[in-house]
Amino acid sequence: RAKSLKNIRYQVFERTMQVGGLDRLQLETDLRLAVSRGEFVMYYQPVISLKTGEIVGFEALVRWQHPRQGLVTPERFLKVAKETGLIIPIGRWAMQEACHQLAIWQQSLKSNCQIIVGVNLSGRQFIHPDLVDEIKGIIQDSGIDPSGLRLEITESVIMDDVEATIRLLHQLKNLQIKLSIDDFGTGFSSLGYLPRFPVDVLKIDRSFIAHIGEATEVENLAIVRTILMLAQALNLDAIAEGVETFEQLEQLRSLGCEYAQGYYFQRPISADHATQFFTSHPHW
Ligand code: C2E
Ligand code: MG
Ligand code: MG
Ligand code: MG
Repeated sequence: RAKSLKNIRYQVFERTMQVGGLDRLQLETDLRLAVSRGEFVMYYQPVISLKTGEIVGFEALVRWQHPRQGLVTPERFLKVAKETGLIIPIGRWAMQEACHQLAIWQQSLKSNCQIIVGVNLSGRQFIHPDLVDEIKGIIQDSGIDPSGLRLEITESVIMDDVEATIRLLHQLKNLQIKLSIDDFGTGFSSLGYLPRFPVDVLKIDRSFIAHIGEATEVENLAIVRTILMLAQALNLDAIAEGVETFEQLEQLRSLGCEYAQGYYFQRPISADHATQFFTSHPHW
């Protein structure tokens, strides 16, 4: 018996190894520690108005200040965070941190100037039963004007259970916050639902912007143009993500795209750097 048990253990161990289990196990252990130690930092990427050239807000993007590996971006740890459920405490921290920062920005700004901070929500957070109450609590504790907060929910998550989504989106809208569909254009199954979603913004996925200026430009420009028309018809704002070149910026401008973000303007930066940048940035 002992022998067969050992055998089973060995097999399990071997299987985990085969799918890169050692790395993953280490990552999971590190991630748990990171949550309890609070090793996360928030970075902010400016969103630019292509009409005025001004910064209209920021997207909050989480980073992990790893004790040995330095600053780690979400692509390295988000998958494991989602699978383990650690995305719930990480996402809660991200929301608290972004709202805390938004409160500081709102207090230091003149009342005629709006700044909007976008916070990403993963599918797991979105379907969590406490979501609405939690965000409500964070809005109260941070003292923000909720109209400056925008949640970003990816298209694939929104489409998962449409009727439940619509109900939830209305509950979130009742908090007077803004909602956007993230990575728009990559996961839609039925456009017919779009008018029923009480959202404010479509974020055009980076993949459509990235090819502007390349061989497949024509198709991608057609998609971008279509999304912009759709946004206009439904009275939604559109933000193009991942603008890296002047050429892409000019194309978007000529298509009438109103807002954009991307490395061309600025990479995600620390809160302090973002504050500096906000007060002394160039106009595009
Ligand atoms: P996303 O919401 O689509 O965010 C945009 C991503 O594109 C960010 O990656 C940003 O740094 C990157 N990006 C911006 N401009 C450019 C550009 O010009 N070129 C290129 N190549 N990339 C650009 P990041 O920060 O690595 O985040 C990746 C994803 O992780 C995000 O995609 C979002 O889905 C998720 N995420 C980030 N922060 C959070 C968070 O606090 N909570 C949750 N649940 N998810 C988050
Ligand atoms: Mg986003
Ligand atoms: Mg996006
Ligand atoms: Mg994206």
